[in-house]
Amino acid sequence: MASDSAGPAFKQHQTQIMVRVRFAPSPTGPLHIGGVRTALYDYLLAKKHGGSFILRIEDTDQKRFVPGAEEYIIESLKWMGMTPDEGPGIGGDYGPYRQSERKELYAKFVQQLLDSNHAYYAFDTSEELDAMRARKEQEGSISQKYDATVRLEMKNSLSLSDEETQQYLDKGENITVRLKVDPGEVVSFKDIVRGHVEFKTDELDDKVLMKADGLPTYHMANIVDDKHMEISHVIRGEEWLSSTAHHILLYRALGWEDAIPQFAHLPLLLKPVGKGKLGKRDGAKFGFPVFPLNWEAADEPYQGFKEFGILPEAAKNFLAFLGWNPGTDQEIFSEEELIQAFSLDRVNNSGARFDVEKGKWYNQQYIIAKENSELAEIIKPMLTEKGMSVTDEYLIEFCGLMKERVELIPDFYENGKFFFEQPTEYDEKTLRKKYKEENNQHFHAIKDVMVQIENWEAATIEEKIKGYIKDNELGFGAILPILRVTITGTMKGPDIFKTICLLGKEESVQRMEKGLTFTQTLKSDA
Ligand code: GLU
Repeated sequence: MASDSAGPAFKQHQTQIMVRVRFAPSPTGPLHIGGVRTALYDYLLAKKHGGSFILRIEDTDQKRFVPGAEEYIIESLKWMGMTPDEGPGIGGDYGPYRQSERKELYAKFVQQLLDSNHAYYAFDTSEELDAMRARKEQEGSISQKYDATVRLEMKNSLSLSDEETQQYLDKGENITVRLKVDPGEVVSFKDIVRGHVEFKTDELDDKVLMKADGLPTYHMANIVDDKHMEISHVIRGEEWLSSTAHHILLYRALGWEDAIPQFAHLPLLLKPVGKGKLGKRDGAKFGFPVFPLNWEAADEPYQGFKEFGILPEAAKNFLAFLGWNPGTDQEIFSEEELIQAFSLDRVNNSGARFDVEKGKWYNQQYIIAKENSELAEIIKPMLTEKGMSVTDEYLIEFCGLMKERVELIPDFYENGKFFFEQPTEYDEKTLRKKYKEENNQHFHAIKDVMVQIENWEAATIEEKIKGYIKDNELGFGAILPILRVTITGTMKGPDIFKTICLLGKEESVQRMEKGLTFTQTLKSDA
């Protein structure tokens, strides 16, 4: 965990590049899985270069602020095992890390932009802005932007006299500050993912930098903070690509050209069907969550990876591959391996399909690789909640038997319920098909064979039961399915002898009796 002096201490140790990356979510709701991927790439890059992973909460849009969202973001990062080195509640030398606590800093630089004529005051009401857009539309303009083509027709410090401007300032209503974008230029930058990117300033609007509520917009605050937090790489979704042109203009206008970070705009996450952006409601639609943790809001609750039964290690591996690949066939990467292999120049620039089957596959691989005792600890709360109580030894054995047969954590219970409670339903189809009345005495004899076993081990149980079947020339196919269904209720499950062994002699014999009685009723029904 980073101490408050993490920044400078780190700087002293670094002789080459100093990697400082920030994850900068806005607390406007639960953190979408695309945001978690961004945070993961930040985290991997920081770890790879011995740098710092910073959490900055971008909460200057008060209208969109959602209570609980910041806590959700922090909890999500914690669950993913990606604790920031600096951030709210953590500390660091570049704080505060919540933009709402940095207002004075932004105001200072907005003033600098006004003084240097790179920005201007605007006093237009929302009705006046609407009227301008309607007029431009009517005139057939392709864009309805507030830019050099219209700014002199609007109510701002460029179109008004100094006296008029002062009057509006004194009135104190509807005061915004806009960036003055000069037409006829080209802004270009290198994006690590997309290569050379350029925008014509003719296509850029005069972005609002300071809103009427006195708070900065995303653009202003983002730039000031990236500069002051000495951010080396800006990693974010591709929806921010065009904003980057404005950001470059801002860096220049503030005389901070040397501090422009490197940019990497990540590809969109696409729906599992391959087309269209992965939306927040797609989790429910495709049966695989698109949020890391449950979000409990009454009006729109969402399921999380965690509650769905995804392990955080699997989530990391799966998300790392949504937009990045190592250039080899290796798919399973430990965190350490991911850190070593990760590089931004191997991030793809085309959309990454959110392949839910792949997500399950990853989870399955991580479940199989986990120690049985660790799995037991993971599933214990779920079992307790369901009112099941077994010993730790039992649970560990159970995990060993079941782990190859599950994709998600709740499958342990769903597919292995019969290890905790006697079946209440039976696979009747199998019983009807396989049960033969003339074998009834043999089933009872097999029960007695079980009762006689002293060395209660799976191998012995198997040997004795199979021995009986062979000696009596019955055929495994006529006996074993009935044995399985009477004991577990279903044909699906791990090795039946291991299952019998774990259930115990008394329990297995009792279940067989009960199951056979049920089977008899089936026959007499028929
Ligand atoms: N606050 C922005 C967001 O919510 C951050 C974008 C950026 O990383 O610059 O996505």
